[in-house]
Amino acid sequence: MKGVIKKISGPLVLVEGLENAKMYNVVLVGKLGLMGEIVRIKENTSYVQVYESTLGLRPGEPVKDTGMPFIAELGPGLLSSIYDGVQRPLKEFTSESDFILRGMSIPSLDRKKKWNFKPLVSEGDHVAFGSVLGIVKELGLEHRIMVPRGISGKVGKIKVGSFKVTDKITTVGGSKITLMQKWPIRLPRPISEKLPPKKKLRTGLRSLDSLFTISKGGSAALSGGFGVGKTVVLQSIAKFSDFDVVIYVGCGERGNEMADLLDSFSKLKKGELPLLNRTTLIANTSNMPVTARESSIYLGATIGEYYRDMGYHVGVISDSTSRWAEALREINSRLGEMPGEQGYPANLSSRIAAFYERAGVIRTFSNATGSLTLLGAISPPGGDFSEPVTQNTLKVVRTFISLNKKLSSRRHFPAIDWTSSYSLDGIGVDFPGWAFSLLNREAEIEEVVQLIGPDALQDKEKLVLLIGKLIREGFLQQNAFSKDAFCTEEKSEKIMKAIEIFKDFSFSSLANGASFEEISSNHFFMEILRLKNRSPEEFESQYKSLEEMLL
Ligand code: ADP
Ligand code: MG
Repeated sequence: MKGVIKKISGPLVLVEGLENAKMYNVVLVGKLGLMGEIVRIKENTSYVQVYESTLGLRPGEPVKDTGMPFIAELGPGLLSSIYDGVQRPLKEFTSESDFILRGMSIPSLDRKKKWNFKPLVSEGDHVAFGSVLGIVKELGLEHRIMVPRGISGKVGKIKVGSFKVTDKITTVGGSKITLMQKWPIRLPRPISEKLPPKKKLRTGLRSLDSLFTISKGGSAALSGGFGVGKTVVLQSIAKFSDFDVVIYVGCGERGNEMADLLDSFSKLKKGELPLLNRTTLIANTSNMPVTARESSIYLGATIGEYYRDMGYHVGVISDSTSRWAEALREINSRLGEMPGEQGYPANLSSRIAAFYERAGVIRTFSNATGSLTLLGAISPPGGDFSEPVTQNTLKVVRTFISLNKKLSSRRHFPAIDWTSSYSLDGIGVDFPGWAFSLLNREAEIEEVVQLIGPDALQDKEKLVLLIGKLIREGFLQQNAFSKDAFCTEEKSEKIMKAIEIFKDFSFSSLANGASFEEISSNHFFMEILRLKNRSPEEFESQYKSLEEMLL
């Protein structure tokens, strides 16, 4: 049904005459056919948020309703792809790129490429939604071709060989099956059963893995002001954590960060293959249209759920969810809706909750286990955590990582504040209780020092400060641009063990009459501080000799 543009207000376009308009239908706006989505209907007027720049658009231009919601294409070829917020492939991504010509519709999955399909079912087998029909090798990953929703019944004649994503490979209950399927991004993919998160994610960051655990299927938010290191932490997780598949959504942040990420993902290897092979990038950076930020995180979650449904452990990383919320706010104000707190939509809280609820461990329809972990950055203006996005996210995520300006300005990276971060997935499991108490005690003593200076401290208190320094600098600090960027569980345990042995040794030496000066000038202190930066071989021999001597 043809409609006509009545009014244009930035990314919002008012359209009259769309007779069968439905909420969230995708429409093509203007002569260029810019992609947009109906976000409100009032009598004869449809309010359309347009995902592309509306520059040059004029009232009177035609609008076409596609009759469908925004649908993602799911199939082989997603991995190592770079998409914009509406899943158009960006062949070459640079920070400058004005990416795509407006109104261009390019298929998300390559229509020419052929994939080798190997069936796992036979003609006559009974299958239903989510059943695995066969596999395609996708860049080192076994891509499981599943029955789409709404289709079930007997498998027809099934083919073996090379196929394009739109070729028929078989039928199920008479319906044509291809390597590709479609899914509306705003709708979570159905699951058969949710399971409790059990497995820990290994991020390789000591402060997360041992102190503020994220579990596979969990959800985590990192909050902190500008420049405290959110992006560095998220990118490090994307590189080193033991996900099978990572979807990285660059939402409203700087384009050069995505270009850097792409560059390092192409160079870094996981096993034999470049890291990019397990990754899909969605780039909707600050130079791209604001409204597409809104769709980009749903697109990310949908692609994530699709791989989860195959039985993989998937991470969807969004940097930053604040920019997404700002897009909601912008549309809300243009719609003239009653604003909630700080101008955000009144339903911000439920929008955030609904997003993070897509995380979880599930039993797939073919009885495997898959998980979707959602990680997001929050960039509160001025680092003020009382603002609505932080507060509403706090309520729903299992792990909350607070990054702190005070730490980052002292170059304590990652600047994770151990006093205000938390994880429901196991705080302090690897990080011993004594170390935590010692850091608290250290903070108390520091306060005293601020008031009356260090001279008044007793040797025992000075020792607490010394061990505190070991924990902070020798264990918690981890330079993302050094060889220490990724730390194994074993190495992390040994560093902590070395600190513990040194702590016991020095406190008992003190009790036996040694002076603080003697203990602090002990070369073991410096050795432990340096331990994290040792090469694996050096580390082993250094650790052994430390252990022997101190014990
Ligand atoms: P944000 O995303 O919070 O604005 P970034 O992640 O871009 O901040 O970090 C800002 C700068 O801080 C980085 O460019 C880097 O110099 C430094 N930095 C952050 N995290 C680390 C880290 N783990 N190791 C070393 N340097 C870091
Ligand atoms: Mg950032």
